[in-house]
Amino acid sequence: MDINEKSYELGSKRSVIRELFEYGKKRKAEIGEDKVFDFSLGNPSVKPPKKVKDTLIKLLNSDNETALHGYTSAQGDIATRGAVADSLNKLYRGKILPDLIYMTCGAAASLTITLKALSNCGDECVVFAPFFTEYRVFIENAGAKVVVSKPEEKTFQIDFDDLQNKITAKTKAVIINSPNNPSGVIYTESTIERLSKILNGKEKEYGHAIYLISDEPYRELVYGEKIVPFVMNYYQNSIVCYSYSKSLSLPGERIGYIAVSPECKGSGKVFNAVCGAGRSLGFVCAPSMFQKLIAECADLTVDVSAYKENRDILYENLKSFGYECVNPDGAFYLLVKCFGDSAATFCEKAKKHEILVVPCDDFGISGYVRIAYCVKKETIVNSLPHFLALAEEYK
Ligand code: PLP
Repeated sequence: MDINEKSYELGSKRSVIRELFEYGKKRKAEIGEDKVFDFSLGNPSVKPPKKVKDTLIKLLNSDNETALHGYTSAQGDIATRGAVADSLNKLYRGKILPDLIYMTCGAAASLTITLKALSNCGDECVVFAPFFTEYRVFIENAGAKVVVSKPEEKTFQIDFDDLQNKITAKTKAVIINSPNNPSGVIYTESTIERLSKILNGKEKEYGHAIYLISDEPYRELVYGEKIVPFVMNYYQNSIVCYSYSKSLSLPGERIGYIAVSPECKGSGKVFNAVCGAGRSLGFVCAPSMFQKLIAECADLTVDVSAYKENRDILYENLKSFGYECVNPDGAFYLLVKCFGDSAATFCEKAKKHEILVVPCDDFGISGYVRIAYCVKKETIVNSLPHFLALAEEYK
């Protein structure tokens, strides 16, 4: 059949995460929902803030239904873009204007559009392991090549010696994701400062812009006093790809944005390329009703205390059982070093204990698994004896 081979390959091979999720559904039907400890998917387990529901009801009860469900301008409704810019300016020391905000269908769309806007065939895009598996799909689809930079051992911050070797004359962009999926690690201010310095030096050396794409769906999911440095305060040619999927628990509603830094060289031209990429990819506009919701709820965040409680219970207990874990400061993932060499074998053994965790090989690191702890607290508590039994199997 004369169809696109790459698309066929992507569509016929389910991701490891989806594969596990489907297995989990089947297994729950066999032995009962509460007997399977499914940590496979990053689906938020905390309700959106009350104002989200109240605003949606208000919008649905408004008289202007045609406008509520109608098209907006391609880059988004001006009131929404204004609210997003105002909200961002609390983080940013400069001034972000609505003119550089483009509303999207979530972070996936923000990334695909941004990569398409920047990349020419043969360009390279650096990602830091461990990285969200879909980056590879998005980068290759934009015609660029994925270059993986390994992390610093234990801390999972950037390994700058490795990074220096990975940036070439072909590097068009670098993607960071902090707090990180799958490690939960937040890049410190000194990491961001050092990264900016290196990128500035490489821009000078090669005589062209290297864009810093900051993928930030977990920006507000932070525990304790930790701060996520806002990239626009550190690096000129930065572009933020954001989503409300996790911060407002709205992953199925598909709403987010791209913000081009006002200090980005030729920011207007970059923004036009973003608009062009959105057009060519067929994103007519972001969901209209949810744009109107964001106009009123841009500053809100879910209550992260339940995630923090889950993290604390899981981290403390797994450590006491002998697991080596990366302490997550944000997002809702825990990265755990496997017993034995193979993450796939470890995950199969975990399945026998009714625990579903994701091997991280596709995230660019081997020997680790990801536990998505965005589940009910009782799932965490009831899973503990099973994690203990799994650890004991290796002793
Ligand atoms: N980037 C990262 C790091 C993610 O973890 C996810 C989703 O889990 C996305 C992007 C995509 O988010 P969205 O659902 O908003 O498209």
